[in-house]
Amino acid sequence: MNDCLFCKIVAKEVPAEIVYETGRTLAFRDTNPQAPTHVLVIPKGHYSDAAALADADDGLTDEVLKAAHAVAVMERVSEEGYRVVFNTGAGAGQTVFHVHAHVLGGRALTWPPG
Ligand code: 5GP
Ligand code: ZN
Repeated sequence: MNDCLFCKIVAKEVPAEIVYETGRTLAFRDTNPQAPTHVLVIPKGHYSDAAALADADDGLTDEVLKAAHAVAVMERVSEEGYRVVFNTGAGAGQTVFHVHAHVLGGRALTWPPG
């Protein structure tokens, strides 16, 4: 996917502040953070959204979730509570169509979200 921003981050063609990496996943800070901890966790391979990822490879879905939890522990937000969000589809606010989990923490998080 030549025109995909997050594929370019994986390829190191676009810089990002990487905080965690495994063989098939990458985690980096969001450039427009909505909380003191706001990290995006992606599979290195391109899947447009969470549904496409789960359909294609549920083992990789598992790896992305495990990476999200590892990030929360590293960021020291796991004890107080944190949020893992997959905006799925434009109607839910998805703007980058390479699946990513938002890991949000470090402040009080209200529910329901807007
Ligand atoms: P979405 O709206 O698709 O759920 O989330 C996309 C996220 O990507 C947004 O929170 C946005 O701030 C973030 N983002 C957009 N462009 C970049 C970028 O170039 N680098 C990084 N690290 N994050 C980005
Ligand atoms: Zn991509």
